[in-house]
Amino acid sequence: ERLSQLYIHESVSNVIPQDAFTSAFDETPIEVELVGDEKTYGKSDAVATYVPREAFLEAGWVHCIRAGYDAFDTNAYEEAGVPLTNSTGIHGSTVGELALSFMLSFARLTHRYREHQTQSHWWTPPYERPFTIENERVCVVGLGTIGEAIATRCDALGMTVTGVRRSDDPVPGVTDLVSPNRLHEAIEDARFVVLTVPHTPTTEGMLSDAEFELMREDAYVVNVARGPVVDEDALITALEENEIAGAGLDVFETEPLPEDSPLWDLDEVLISPHKGSATNRYHLDIASLIKENIRRYQSDDSLKNRVA
Ligand code: NAD
Repeated sequence: ERLSQLYIHESVSNVIPQDAFTSAFDETPIEVELVGDEKTYGKSDAVATYVPREAFLEAGWVHCIRAGYDAFDTNAYEEAGVPLTNSTGIHGSTVGELALSFMLSFARLTHRYREHQTQSHWWTPPYERPFTIENERVCVVGLGTIGEAIATRCDALGMTVTGVRRSDDPVPGVTDLVSPNRLHEAIEDARFVVLTVPHTPTTEGMLSDAEFELMREDAYVVNVARGPVVDEDALITALEENEIAGAGLDVFETEPLPEDSPLWDLDEVLISPHKGSATNRYHLDIASLIKENIRRYQSDDSLKNRVA
């Protein structure tokens, strides 16, 4: 059955302006309408959404506007025979640039200068503190869209790049490829450990006590993946006990990060509010993924980014 409607669930407004997003489909050959939770669906309907809803299992196809689709019950989609697609493939530069900005700040100290700037204070760091990311080793764990974008950017800035990846196909920018079961070897001499894996049972708590103990004392963790990939209590302990030097975090076990989290008060922790993918053209990037899949759906081609 062909699609006759694209319904945009109002939850998209969690991350993109719904009107601009809807207008991005002006030239699309099927009807597009913004809907709330009262809507029911049939097989000729496509849904674009941020949150999962039981009712979507009656639709013809569901697109999750996020890359991480861990909130969706993929088994239920498979049982219902409803294809589920996600928005992977578009976060390389956005999330990648945030990860690089964390790394550059830790090395060049913009976060510390800004802190003193708010007090009109001409602060100078101890001689030993600043460094360059050039010539340092970064370990990028997970070489999908975001991991690869980070690897190529780090390479361009003169870093040595270790990549942790299940397959051993070469990846641009990566000097050393290591398989996930050798994670410890990959992280032990890295100045930066950057997490870009999805949250799965295998990746949950991937960095915990043992890993922080193993890492260099002057190493920084950058998590732009999902909060639970890092054991947050273990991270806090490692930071408080100077087992590692700092952390740049866009994602947390609980979001928003609770006000009483010790992470807020640590000097060498950079916190961003899960906005790694934020850009003023995000709605257009997502819309073009969906438009491409409408074209494919209507001509019985396999859908891009299908996850169930
Ligand atoms: P992607 O699917 O392109 O890449 C994920 C990569 O991780 C794949 O290459 C996969 O093979 C690999 N992988 C999976 N399990 C692994 C393991 N155990 N060890 C090593 N590698 C493993 O996805 P992406 O677009 O690069 O995004 C990655 C993750 O980042 C998403 O799943 C999402 O949770 C998160 N994300 C965060 C933001 C943000 O705003 N901070 C935005 C987009 C995505």
